[in-house]
Amino acid sequence: MTKKMRAAIVEQFGQDLVVQNIEIPAPGPGQILVKTEACGVCHTDLHAARGDWPLKPTPPFIPGHEGIGIVVALGTGVSAVKEGDRVGVPWLYSACGHCEHCLAAWETVCGEAEFGGYTRNGGFAEYILADPNYVAHIPAGLSATEAAPLICAGVTTYKGIKETDAKPGEWIAISGIGGLGHLGVQYAKALGLHVCAVDIDDKKLEHATQLGAEAVVNAKQPDAVEAVIKATGGGAHGVLITAPSLIAFNQGIAMTRKRGTCVLVGLPPGDFPTPLFDVVANCITIRGSFVGTRQDMAETLAFAAEGKVRADVELQPLSAINDVFKRLENGDVPSRVVIDFSKSASMS
Ligand code: NAD
Ligand code: ZN
Ligand code: ZN
Repeated sequence: MTKKMRAAIVEQFGQDLVVQNIEIPAPGPGQILVKTEACGVCHTDLHAARGDWPLKPTPPFIPGHEGIGIVVALGTGVSAVKEGDRVGVPWLYSACGHCEHCLAAWETVCGEAEFGGYTRNGGFAEYILADPNYVAHIPAGLSATEAAPLICAGVTTYKGIKETDAKPGEWIAISGIGGLGHLGVQYAKALGLHVCAVDIDDKKLEHATQLGAEAVVNAKQPDAVEAVIKATGGGAHGVLITAPSLIAFNQGIAMTRKRGTCVLVGLPPGDFPTPLFDVVANCITIRGSFVGTRQDMAETLAFAAEGKVRADVELQPLSAINDVFKRLENGDVPSRVVIDFSKSASMS
């Protein structure tokens, strides 16, 4: 009898995920099989399950790109990892390794990249097939549930902060203090920046203060932009927009200091108008940022291994996935939900 695994599957966009038993995949040449211990639930998984973006995954597929687990089987020719290693299977599931972007260590924009939990099955399953050349290597001392949010939310905000070019002692405004933003506040503090946190939920802002933000602004207040400009003495040198809301993008650009950089990482579907005169006359840089490279990932994890950053996690079993999605959609997840696979019995 073939062994089976439990997996949460998107069968149709916009419908509940179906949790069922399916066959455990076998690693082909150059692949590895990872037994999942934990997988974070990112807002991107919601966009994926709704088919929100122009580039869509093809149902049926298994979402989840914050999966952490133990390597349990190697396909032929694998030497980059060994059985027993703890790895993460991230959004950047694989890339070609030889295009101009891969050669420049910008594998995140490789035209042949595959995406975990999107174009390849992801971590909402008891086992994940992975590419050993692109997995995250989890440092000893970090548990699977602690590491899970770092391999997407962590690396995306760490890289996004670096992309703002803000220097120690300068201000960063972080808009959206959810899964991404609560880690962004911590990375920004660890990098020596002053943080102004922006969200529409006062509880998220209280959390940001506990994590070290010197200023907080509720984005719903009519003078939110002016309040950030005042708190940062003229606008933030760097702005990082993680909020899955188009309004936050207009606000974010208006909060940027002259000659500052506004980095976009939130991915609500759609476009937003750019105030050309302000952007041009104030010499503002607007920059997109997409997860992070393998080197960014190693640095992201090192901060946590050294105790400088800690994800705030709420553990749930795989069977709760649809409820977690609804809460995430309604803004009712305090920071990050992590699916804990020790909570759901393996089916054989
Ligand atoms: P989340 O739901 O955990 O957090 C979103 C936060 O934004 C919440 O705290 C919410 O209250 C806040 N928010 C909502 N509207 C707001 C507004 N108008 N102004 C300020 N704050 C507002 O989501 P998450 O997992 O942190 O993901 C956030 C976004 O980032 C999603 O669109 C996701 O797809 C995207 N994302 C992008 C990348 C990338 O590589 N660029 C990587 C991961 C996630
Ligand atoms: Zn993500
Ligand atoms: Zn490439």
